[in-house]
Amino acid sequence: MAGKIQAIRGMHDILPEQVHIWQTLESTMQDLFGSYGYQEIRMPLLEKTDLFKRSIGEVTDIVEKEMYTFEDRNGDSLTLRPEGTAGCVRACIENGLLHNQVHRLWYSGPMFRHERPQKGRYRQFYQAGVECFGMQGPDIDAEHIVMTARLWERLGIRDVRLEINSLGSSKSRAEYQDVLVDYYRAHINELDDDSVRRLESNPMRILDSKNPDMKQLIASAPVMIDHLDEESKQHFERLLGYLDDVGIRYDISPKLVRGLDYYGKTVFEWITDSLGAQGTICAGGRFDGLVEQLGGRKTPAMGFAIGIERMVALLEETGVAPGKNSPHAYLVMVGDEAQSAGFKLVDSLRTSVPGLKIVMHCGGGSYKSQFKKADKSGASLALIIGDDEIANGVISIKPLRSDDDQQQLSHDDVEKYLQEFILN
Ligand code: ATP
Ligand code: MG
Repeated sequence: MAGKIQAIRGMHDILPEQVHIWQTLESTMQDLFGSYGYQEIRMPLLEKTDLFKRSIGEVTDIVEKEMYTFEDRNGDSLTLRPEGTAGCVRACIENGLLHNQVHRLWYSGPMFRHERPQKGRYRQFYQAGVECFGMQGPDIDAEHIVMTARLWERLGIRDVRLEINSLGSSKSRAEYQDVLVDYYRAHINELDDDSVRRLESNPMRILDSKNPDMKQLIASAPVMIDHLDEESKQHFERLLGYLDDVGIRYDISPKLVRGLDYYGKTVFEWITDSLGAQGTICAGGRFDGLVEQLGGRKTPAMGFAIGIERMVALLEETGVAPGKNSPHAYLVMVGDEAQSAGFKLVDSLRTSVPGLKIVMHCGGGSYKSQFKKADKSGASLALIIGDDEIANGVISIKPLRSDDDQQQLSHDDVEKYLQEFILN
């Protein structure tokens, strides 16, 4: 036998027994985003490498060490998208969506980062993202945060907290960075190698360091929020006011900077304590400079991304995962005539009973073997057609998960029975 070929480390199959949680999550998000007037956009998985270098920033974990970058057959440098914002902005500029227009967009799909695989951290992972363009006020920032809060509620998730911060304007950020560099210079011996390197090129990245030895030093560093310009301060205060108005609680987290360079003003993360170290399930912020940086006209923008694997794990962990997506009914047929009658019946039921999930048994076999399969399918009901039913022109219905009696019904009554069954 030939050797087995395995999946790539950090890239996982999502098997049918888990997929129903994904589907519930995806359809809940789609409904919710739609109800706020957001429209879906779909972008390619591959983009030119420069797109990510120019947007995410050269001196970031993603661009320095996590991208899947390769040359294609033409010698062009391409990268599997590590996130969705850059591609979304590129698509909007390229398709002329940003000229004096307002857009509320969402997308979802796989992202790729060459990280060390562990619980909640994979090399192919899925994100659902939201991006808005053309709105500069704190009202849209608030809408994003409220929308995510309502999503957790719809999914029955309680154990999450909101951390929020402001990174100010680029001017006030530059002034703050000088203060920060002075602070780290005074403690240069306590910095790790990565941080020494970033001290000149991107000092704020040091605040995002995952190295535990740096924790103390980072904790005492000066914070952006003490250096905000007047406009950013007002933006932030009004945003917090909106959140107060609808009862959304938050912690102001002055060290929150996010792992991508393009953020300014609002940044936020939703964090849970139920998943261990990888507890951030959603993160986002404002990126007013990015469109211009990628060659478009200056356009304010705000967005966030949700980590789907972490959400699925949370739904499993907290026991609010939806039930398995079992069929309502399984059609058991014994005998040639029964098989043709059953084939027609199931075809007409699929039209006349909208929403019906019914599995048709294939491959014949005894009642016993067919009932075993019906049971395994998770179906609540068996529809049965055998010699008796053919002779009498009826269909038998047998509840598989209760002690209720089996009954024989006419074709019309089966339809009514199933219509009612689905409603309950
Ligand atoms: P982290 O600090 O955990 O590395 P990040 O700042 O790199 O996260 P973002 O780029 O903001 O994350 O991505 C948004 C969300 O996508 C994260 O909050 C997380 O839920 C999810 N995510 C990011 N990287 C991964 C990964 N490698 N595997 C699974 N989910 C991920
Ligand atoms: Mg990361």
